[in-house]
Amino acid sequence: PVIAVTKERRAGETRVAATPETVKKFIGAGYSVVVESGAGDGASIPDADYEAAGATLAKSVKDAVGKADILFKVRGPEADEIKALKPGAIVAATLNPYQDRATLDALAAQGATAFAMEFVPRITRAQVMDVLSSQANLAGYRAVIEGAEAYGRALPMMMTAAGTVAPAKVFIMGVGVAGLQAIATARRLGAVVTATDVRPATKEQVESLGAKFIAVEDEEFQNAQTAGGYAKEMSKEYQAKQAALTSSHIAKQDIVITTALIPGRPAPRLITAEQVASMKPGSIIVDLAVEQGGNTEGAKPNETVVTANGVKILGFTNLPGRIAADSSALYARNLVAFSELFKTKEGAFAPDLEDEILKAACVTHGGAVVHPSLKA
Ligand code: NAD
Repeated sequence: PVIAVTKERRAGETRVAATPETVKKFIGAGYSVVVESGAGDGASIPDADYEAAGATLAKSVKDAVGKADILFKVRGPEADEIKALKPGAIVAATLNPYQDRATLDALAAQGATAFAMEFVPRITRAQVMDVLSSQANLAGYRAVIEGAEAYGRALPMMMTAAGTVAPAKVFIMGVGVAGLQAIATARRLGAVVTATDVRPATKEQVESLGAKFIAVEDEEFQNAQTAGGYAKEMSKEYQAKQAALTSSHIAKQDIVITTALIPGRPAPRLITAEQVASMKPGSIIVDLAVEQGGNTEGAKPNETVVTANGVKILGFTNLPGRIAADSSALYARNLVAFSELFKTKEGAFAPDLEDEILKAACVTHGGAVVHPSLKA
């Protein structure tokens, strides 16, 4: 079977779905690989490195995709890529299925079997193919780097002949995969770190990373984690208590990083305009939930908002894309693990759509949108 990897076409996307390392793995597993020329540019991977790994270079989308049995991408394919697909070809990408119906319909119309990598279930067996985790991890790291860069002071305490520089106070709101990495990164840079979440399990994780945990630990908090490991949407009463507790804390912070999400719901509002106004000039907020409506009042996607009191609110929507070489490397390895599901135990290429993981991720097949959560 032939695997195709094309250049990402969506605005601002710097990542790529394969690296020379994963090309070698695919070839070792019996695939041939076609890479569109320039696909690795944003991740600093020259065409020659793909060629050296055994890939064939293609000059156009048609040449890259036309013979492919599998198309791997970071973001959903564009119309020209979809039109070039053979009927029955497999597509795996982060398809943003709830927001980008048009791409799903086009994939279905072309007869593609498409997998949304976001739908890979978060079970132990699927951890190696979990793109949400691999990308959130790097996003959490990068959020601290961006925050540190925008902040006009140092993060670590420094004792110099000219006097002492105080350490920065960093507050992480929401400690899932991204938040935990943000804590670790801010600690490594020498900041004094505090963190909050509504899931009780996070308290120990925060403390094990050397940060201080702050939360309203009432009965609702004790029950805030779903069976799937995610947060529940909290009541108005809890949110009011949470805001009262965090208000005086936020006012004292230098950098606040917010990552709070609730699956299938708008992001919870954790920082009001009044709380932003209470912060010192030069303080930074990095809002990782900005695409889902934002945790911070006033945050705008892909903008740095500077408030009247001199607080900067950074609203990057694609932080993994700002560390493209590493995020591509991890994403590409996630795809290698995912592609192992396409083969039978005997090694034949025959994807079993009844497999628990493939079934959960499959969004189009046989000319239709098939995922239960996406049927009209
Ligand atoms: P996420 O991106 O859905 O949310 C980020 C964080 O925001 C979560 O920790 C959530 O509890 C928190 N949050 C939600 N509402 C909040 C509020 N009002 N105030 C403060 N915080 C709030 O989370 P995620 O990073 O995808 O991780 C969710 C869980 O899934 C974690 O327990 C993680 O360890 C687990 N996980 C399991 C696997 C696996 O087993 N394969 C893989 C990845 C993640």
